[in-house]
Amino acid sequence: MIEKKKIRCIFCGEHKESSREHIIPEALGNRYFVTYDVCTECNNRLGSEIDAPFVDDFLMRTARKALGIKGKQNSLPNIIAGTYEVDGGRKIRVDDEGHWSLLPAVKEENGAVQISASSKADGIRIVEENVKRRLKREGIEWTEDVRAVLMKHLKITEQPVLPPETLPQRSDFRAIYFGVLKIAYEYSSSILGGNYFNDEIAKACRRMLNNPSAASFEEIQRYIHHVPAPKDIVEPWTNKYHVLSLMMIEGIIGMDVALYGCHAWNFQIQISDCASNYSFHSPHIDLVPIAGGGG
Ligand SMILES: [Zn+2]
Repeated sequence: MIEKKKIRCIFCGEHKESSREHIIPEALGNRYFVTYDVCTECNNRLGSEIDAPFVDDFLMRTARKALGIKGKQNSLPNIIAGTYEVDGGRKIRVDDEGHWSLLPAVKEENGAVQISASSKADGIRIVEENVKRRLKREGIEWTEDVRAVLMKHLKITEQPVLPPETLPQRSDFRAIYFGVLKIAYEYSSSILGGNYFNDEIAKACRRMLNNPSAASFEEIQRYIHHVPAPKDIVEPWTNKYHVLSLMMIEGIIGMDVALYGCHAWNFQIQISDCASNYSFHSPHIDLVPIAGGGG
């Protein structure tokens, strides 16, 4: 039996078993760019509290789908698929190609039962199932005669449902900023080494990442900015790499995270005010290949 390596976790600071942590989430196409300085517990917690809301955000899902980045189940994320409310409180189900259908609904009012369905046949099927269930509860058998009575009393009106005018979506920039901050913190920790753990900015970032619900959006924006990069520095939609770079300017260490190598998805993160604490001189740039990214 091989004993797992013990590390000091860069998130909880405890000496624990190492785990394999993707510096950029796997869902964004990163297969091999990993750190082993995160314990299993923190890895799992960060996965559900930071990574999942980040990669599942509407804008991230759109990019993943546009670039053909398949997830763990080897499928592309859905973008607009879901259930939406349309006129009169009726609900429709929409698939990712934009096809929609009325969701069956049963409404009971003053002893009358009203069924909504997308077709006459569907409506009849739902009514039959509904009546069968009720009869069974009363110990009454379902027969062709019962069916005939039911059909005689059934009143069908056709009421067209108009196609939806909009399919409202929302993007959560807070989730995106947290996702990027985590990338920056893990990357900086791996480049700057164990000393970085005690950096004042590292402490602040760690505190927010360890308890994201307690951190305000204003607080996180003190350290991270969405700054679209000039197009001559980062190619628009290279589709091949995420670009991470760490650099020192006048005693300050800063980082750029260009998701998808896209100038529009470039973030700048403050890493340290005390560059002299680290033996760090020349800029570090890493291109993280996007697997499945059509490249
Ligand atoms: Zn930990």
